[in-house]
Amino acid sequence: MSLHQDLIERDRKVTFHASTHLRDFAHGDAPGRVITGGKGIHIVDKDGREFIDGFAGLYCVNIGYGRTEVAEAIYQQALELSYYHTYVGHSNEPQIALSEKILELYGPGMSKVYYGMSGSDANETQLKIVRYYNNVLGRPQKKKVISRMRGYHGSGIASGSLTGLKAFHDHFDLPIDTIRHTEAPFYYHRAAELEGMTEREFSKHCATKLEKMILAEGPDTVAAFIGEPVLGTGGIVPPPEGYWAEIQSVLTKYDVLLIADEVVCGFGRIGTEFGSHFYGIKPDLITVAKGLTSAYQPLSGVIVGDRVWQVLEQGTGEYGPIGHGWTYSGHALGCAAGLANLAIIAREGLTQNAAETGAYLQQQLQVAFGDHPIVGQVRGVGMLAAVEFSADPARRAHFDPALKVGPRIAAAAMQENLIARAMPQGDILGFAPPLTTSRAEVDEIVARAKRAVDKVTEQLVREGVVKATMPVG
Ligand SMILES: *Cc1c(COP(=O)(O)O)cnc(C)c1O
Repeated sequence: MSLHQDLIERDRKVTFHASTHLRDFAHGDAPGRVITGGKGIHIVDKDGREFIDGFAGLYCVNIGYGRTEVAEAIYQQALELSYYHTYVGHSNEPQIALSEKILELYGPGMSKVYYGMSGSDANETQLKIVRYYNNVLGRPQKKKVISRMRGYHGSGIASGSLTGLKAFHDHFDLPIDTIRHTEAPFYYHRAAELEGMTEREFSKHCATKLEKMILAEGPDTVAAFIGEPVLGTGGIVPPPEGYWAEIQSVLTKYDVLLIADEVVCGFGRIGTEFGSHFYGIKPDLITVAKGLTSAYQPLSGVIVGDRVWQVLEQGTGEYGPIGHGWTYSGHALGCAAGLANLAIIAREGLTQNAAETGAYLQQQLQVAFGDHPIVGQVRGVGMLAAVEFSADPARRAHFDPALKVGPRIAAAAMQENLIARAMPQGDILGFAPPLTTSRAEVDEIVARAKRAVDKVTEQLVREGVVKATMPVG
């Protein structure tokens, strides 16, 4: 029993929590926890219990917890000016400096940054830009957007439609009708069905399926394609070899814009400034959020490429000022936090650490789980990794979802005071620790994860789900 049960009971009465079994939580049948502090890769709850946060919140606290330098930057900005709107050409100094910094980090090709508060609202902006763009170009039919199954792009009506996960559509009447989903770039899951197909051939197969979809819909109706450089919430899946080059050649052929959703990959997570750099993606539009401020303030951005920007300018020439804006666009406190965050990433070489210590994380996960009797695949890139569990690794067989193997392992990890995320679709344990994580901390994360997986494996053996002939440990 938690020592702060009283606080949790108050919470049950008044708060509607995200991604929560609402009835169980409200009625005391699902656990609660109040987090009160954090330092480095650790968080602390109201009982004083300390956890390693192996998922950096929701892969967003990239500089780690408790960075007073960011708190100070927010405070100093608040003393001067917390907020003034950024409509009709108004600005604030942190916004100007942050836009310069973002465009510098990306390099040539990108023109302007528009700010929001969340990845979801940034993707709403993307969809409006795409519509406007084609209206200006006199192509009112060219409006559909193709996303991918297992893609994650947010939780709104339009952004949730872009998301390709059943749980975000069911009972909400989504997706909306201008959005389509094509094959997920998930070689591990498809290789058995597509017998003998190499990874490269699978990439080609994904591109062919995309092309068929574009042709079936009519190329004059398809406006854009959206994808995360590395599938995130859909399972933490780096793309198969050659995937982005294949996809981009199809998009170019049919004049379809490419939106790179860099909400997770942007600002160092996979060891390069942007995931687009890592995979040679040349997007027309980029979505950023999470790592932009390391979640010290809510802030997102839409980075608009030169080609699209030209058309937006042309559009306002014809139609007048653009009818888009949030009250909090370019919020001074968000931008101040973003600047302080990016300064820390640069000064401490965190992108480089994500590459180097990230490689060590991948290697140590392989050592711990590569031959584990219930592990099908260990995968990842930089400081983003997943272990996928399998009832029969040789055949890549899934566990019966009713066994809830993924959530049980995440719960066992919690008992080890390690937070690793049970990804929502499949028995997959995700890791995305802060980019500040050291090798010694990686060792601790992997050791705790190993104890958790072994414990659940033993339970599965006792339950007769997994054969005991295979050695555990
Ligand atoms: C988290 C996420 C979003 C949505 O961001 P919110 O701030 O939760 O609205 C969009 N795209 C990707 C790739 C994400 O991981």
